[in-house]
Amino acid sequence: MTAPTTTPQDTFEAARLRSEELEKKVLDHPDQFRVLTGDRPTGRLHVGHLFGTLQNRVRLQRLGVASFIVIADYQVLTDREACEGIAKNVRELTLDYLAAGLDPHCAHTFIFPHSHVPELNQLLVVFLTLVTNAELDRNPTVKEEIQATGAKQINAGMYTYPVHQAADILFCKANLVPVGKDQLPHLEMTRTIARRFNARYGPVFPEPQALLSAAPQIKGLDGSLKMSKSRNNAIALSASEDETAALIRSATTDGNRIITYEPETRPEVANLLLLASLASGEAPESIAARIGDGGAGMLKRILTEALNEHLRPMRQRRKLLEQNPDHIRNVLMSGIGHAREMAEKTLCEVRKIMDMEL
Ligand code: ATP
Ligand code: MG
Repeated sequence: MTAPTTTPQDTFEAARLRSEELEKKVLDHPDQFRVLTGDRPTGRLHVGHLFGTLQNRVRLQRLGVASFIVIADYQVLTDREACEGIAKNVRELTLDYLAAGLDPHCAHTFIFPHSHVPELNQLLVVFLTLVTNAELDRNPTVKEEIQATGAKQINAGMYTYPVHQAADILFCKANLVPVGKDQLPHLEMTRTIARRFNARYGPVFPEPQALLSAAPQIKGLDGSLKMSKSRNNAIALSASEDETAALIRSATTDGNRIITYEPETRPEVANLLLLASLASGEAPESIAARIGDGGAGMLKRILTEALNEHLRPMRQRRKLLEQNPDHIRNVLMSGIGHAREMAEKTLCEVRKIMDMEL
């Protein structure tokens, strides 16, 4: 008898079911959870982020879950050499967060770039000794990202960034990570690292769990698998209404005039319907039925209207926040302060258990 093989779809299904269970637990006991999530400061956040993870983060914050939001600025260097614009992107990202509803004033949300938390980065040194080259080589998301860069030379930061991400998550002992689908392999690596550390040296770290949203992978407007800041296929949350309309007009669809919701066979049309559904609350099948033989033009008009309406309050808040750069800086400084305090405590614990205390 051959052993059953696990496909990526099985892994995804299992993660989705676990997410549903987790949702219930978080609702009952928000105080037992600590969230860590974040983004690379490679550009402005887009609607994939909003529906894939950002709305989830805001919801968890409102439930009272402590939330650490890491801006992974070192990770920018994994797939590009130029570092100009990072500080600006960090500020833009922070604006996007606050506009979307993350609120550092609620006293349990902390936003910080990891380059400013040296104790966090020190954990990376230890964690690198807990994984093998073969494990780093196998990571499907890293493989896909390497392919997307089209580069011939891949730097070691690219191969090891999932380990860096483990340091991001474990420095604050987060146990809940709201992410999109592409992050599942990385989270598995974080869990492995936590388990191995605990087995080798003693119990320090929790094994964090992924929390998937209802839209864990929004596709790009070009029909590619993932809407992504770096691939020029995204609708930025901060785009104007006209820019949004133009981007949607340029989106790839197919030649069939009758609009139906069939994610397997008509992924591009299904993606636009899904976005319209997420923005309006109406089921994608029902939007498709309303359009009928109205064609891609009508679908795009409906999506533009729904999305612009959904994003309007966020965009207005962003405009106000843009007027106050000092506030953004204060938010980051305060987030860095809290993150450092937490990272220092964890690093002390790690040194102690590894017999490195003097
Ligand atoms: P880059 O292209 O620079 O890597 P990105 O758009 O992939 O940028 P990240 O900063 O790498 O964004 O991802 C941040 C978070 O947003 C992750 O949790 C990721 O899973 C989620 N996310 C990113 N893109 C999408 C998407 N298209 N659909 C759902 N979630 C997404
Ligand atoms: Mg990415």
